[in-house]
Amino acid sequence: MTQSMTTAELVGAIKQAGGCSHPIRLRGEFLNTATGEVSERPLLVACKDRRAVLCPACSYLYKADAWIVVSTGLLGGKGVPTTVGSHPRLFVTLTAPSFGAVHAQRADGSCRPRSRPLCPHGRPLTCHAHHDDADPLLGSPLCADCFNYRDAILWNAQSSRLWNRTVERVRRQLAADHDAIGDPSHLVRLSYLKVAEFQRRGLVHFHVVLRADGADEPFSPPPASLTTSSLARAIASVVAHFSVAGPLGEIAWGRQFHVSELDDSDDADQRVAAYLAKYAVKTTDGSLDFARRFHSRAEILNLAATPHLRRLAFTAWDLGLEPDLAALNLRAHAHAFGFRGQLITKSRHYSTRFQDLRDVRAAFMATPVTGHLPTEDPVRGTFTYEGRGYDDPHAREVAEFLHRLYLEARRPSAPTTDDAEGTR
Ligand SMILES: [Zn+2]
Ligand SMILES: [Zn+2]
Ligand SMILES: [Zn+2]
Repeated sequence: MTQSMTTAELVGAIKQAGGCSHPIRLRGEFLNTATGEVSERPLLVACKDRRAVLCPACSYLYKADAWIVVSTGLLGGKGVPTTVGSHPRLFVTLTAPSFGAVHAQRADGSCRPRSRPLCPHGRPLTCHAHHDDADPLLGSPLCADCFNYRDAILWNAQSSRLWNRTVERVRRQLAADHDAIGDPSHLVRLSYLKVAEFQRRGLVHFHVVLRADGADEPFSPPPASLTTSSLARAIASVVAHFSVAGPLGEIAWGRQFHVSELDDSDDADQRVAAYLAKYAVKTTDGSLDFARRFHSRAEILNLAATPHLRRLAFTAWDLGLEPDLAALNLRAHAHAFGFRGQLITKSRHYSTRFQDLRDVRAAFMATPVTGHLPTEDPVRGTFTYEGRGYDDPHAREVAEFLHRLYLEARRPSAPTTDDAEGTR
């Protein structure tokens, strides 16, 4: 891994790192199992980043894993019984409230054609444009002075907590509806997988697969009286009225709420799994700018983003200094407009874990091919961190080219459906 690598050595190094674009470089000792000799050499380890803009190869694996995690929770497999397919299951989309009028794409393609009075700053709240997907105005406020940046950041920062409390409230309501006596945990367990996605206006919304189980054992059936429709009614009524107290006031869900009941058709389940896996690998706005933490105000100023997204990031950065909001750790999450935590999360008993899938893959890779016994074993405890990325300045480009070749080889004729779904 020096500047003077041959092409074959470079390709070998990229393969060793699993095709990764910016692997972790380690140095450590290896034991030759035939001779007993110990030698020191570098080792490249895949970054395992889920974000496609940072590493296409690792993101591809993550997306495949996400698909397995989502679909085993819907249909069973990998240790999850197939009977989960007959439990009440919903696909739910929850959004943030409005923090000010923004340029949008309605179903008919229009923005805000209905004539409205001017805002208090004298700016029009009417827009006759038809914004296409590439239009940077999309998601930006009609009046930036009317848009409540502070509350938007605070909503993002507390949205995961709002979700957790909402699930608990739905569970309690189901218990009350079904006349459970005493501890409601005896009745039903709500298992879920949730993917957070950023809308163009910079607020997160959640896509959730929600499944009702019995409370006794993981994956056990819920009470027979609990139907898919009663589960849907319970969550709809809680989402409409529920709020949680934050450091500066209550936060609640937006009016845009969608719930679809998943029937027994495998088709709908497969579509939901593919849809969620796709969002799991997106970043804040799909660009590299927002994929990493900011370390200064100047970094935000230099972003190639829209003025609206920059102002959201600045608001989070500045609110980070307010003592009342210290617990929200807003500076560390300014690149995600205040949103904290993982983009993809699941409850403990939803399905198999990402780590279990990685362990199985690692064990498979380590299995010797018959007749080719490995001659080297890494010596535990001798590895030190050397840095990130390849030494060769062209390695990243080559890694991404090899990944594209790999994808083309896997997909001989059918075009990708990845880009077919609309954004919002
Ligand atoms: Zn990687
Ligand atoms: Zn508009
Ligand atoms: Zn205004």
